[in-house]
Amino acid sequence: MSKNTDVVVVGGGYAGVMAANRLTQRDDVTVTVINPRPVFVPRLRLHQLVGGTHDAVVDYEDVLADRVRLVVDSATWIDAAGRSVTLAEGGTIGYDYLIYAVGSGSSGPSVPGAAEFAYPVATLEAAQRLRSVLWDTPVTAAVTVVGGGPTGIETAAELAEQQGRAVTLICGGVLGPYLHPRARRTARKYLAELGVSVLEGPDASITAVAREAVELGDGRTLASQVTIWTAGFGVPDLADRSGLRTDAAGRLLTDETLTSVDNERIVAAGDSSAPSDLPFRMSAYAAGCLGAHAADTVLNRIAGEQPTPIDLSFPAMCISFGRGTGIFQLGHKDDTAMRLYFSGRAGKKLKEYSCAASVKHLVTEARKPGSHSWPKDGKHRPQLLAAQHDDAAAPVA
Ligand SMILES: Cc1cc2nc3c(=O)[nH]c(=O)nc-3n(C[C@H](O)[C@H](O)[C@H](O)COP(=O)(O)OP(=O)(O)OC[C@H]3O[C@@H](n4cnc5c(N)ncnc54)[C@H](O)[C@@H]3O)c2cc1C
Repeated sequence: MSKNTDVVVVGGGYAGVMAANRLTQRDDVTVTVINPRPVFVPRLRLHQLVGGTHDAVVDYEDVLADRVRLVVDSATWIDAAGRSVTLAEGGTIGYDYLIYAVGSGSSGPSVPGAAEFAYPVATLEAAQRLRSVLWDTPVTAAVTVVGGGPTGIETAAELAEQQGRAVTLICGGVLGPYLHPRARRTARKYLAELGVSVLEGPDASITAVAREAVELGDGRTLASQVTIWTAGFGVPDLADRSGLRTDAAGRLLTDETLTSVDNERIVAAGDSSAPSDLPFRMSAYAAGCLGAHAADTVLNRIAGEQPTPIDLSFPAMCISFGRGTGIFQLGHKDDTAMRLYFSGRAGKKLKEYSCAASVKHLVTEARKPGSHSWPKDGKHRPQLLAAQHDDAAAPVA
């Protein structure tokens, strides 16, 4: 009889849940997920939580396979040599393999006053806090959203449409950097229709945040009773703290099979992973694919087989502008925007479909482990890796 294998998954987000469910393909694998909350958070609904149209929680019973054990706690240390995880509430859990899937949160802004006076939106607790602050703030008060990426756009649009707020969106560059210029023009139009003031360009960056104002690069001061920080995601420092090598942002460094460059028993997935120091775009979509691949790598090792390199392509990215309108930007396989995009109600329907799909994939994998599949690329990543290798080999001038 073969020995039972214990796999611990740290983090119960899109990547961690997908990985845990897929591991249940083998009866001789015991899977434990460690997560600080007893509920799954579909983070791509957090701007809706702030706007009051979604509670952004799902019962783990609905997304986790029955055989997966959930430990509600936080990992504070990974002892890679001793193969155990220390928990915040005390005690340790041993493992044969560990999947590192701690995700991301707010980036910890470095602008003076931002940590003190600006509200992040990137975690459940941050979004709940912001919602209650807005609840106590008159609807006529000036609200500033910092960050022109999807999270900033969606938050600004939601607050303008659902709460009738006077919102200024400060992009610190161009609006929706990923979007094709044609789709960007449409995005500007939608935000204008919702009454959101959009400030773009190099001067439209925040240099300081005060209790009721923000300062811009061109010296202007804008009144802002509530300032919301969406500029960039940061990752937990658990890997770094545990002495495992990370990229500059703190994501666990892995090879292309998603295995830690320091330890063959540790495999990473989702926003907190950096395969070959060329991380994929942080997204629920990639997190699900990476989670499935991380599980496959562990299952390969248990079976004594060689794990395969990760391969995935991004078919699209999408942004909602309140509840009735959206942009579904089609992408090339190398994750750059095409000219083609869907807008209006069609864009919104496709966006809603992909939000629902990110949870549905977890449910399907719980019921039918091993079933999740995704579009492959096959071409661009090997080219990127080769270019990275050439750069590293080039003599320094
Ligand atoms: C407002 C908003 C809108 C978004 N919209 C989209 C979108 O439209 N499309 C899209 O693809 N993506 C979107 N995203 C991004 C997407 O939500 C993330 O990329 C995705 O959640 C990453 O999944 P993950 O599993 O890697 O991490 P997460 O979903 O962040 O899950 C990580 C889990 O690990 C837990 N954890 C952290 N530290 C520890 C620890 N020490 N011990 C145990 N557990 C720990 C966390 O609490 C969390 O539960 C959006 C994000 C936000 C905030």
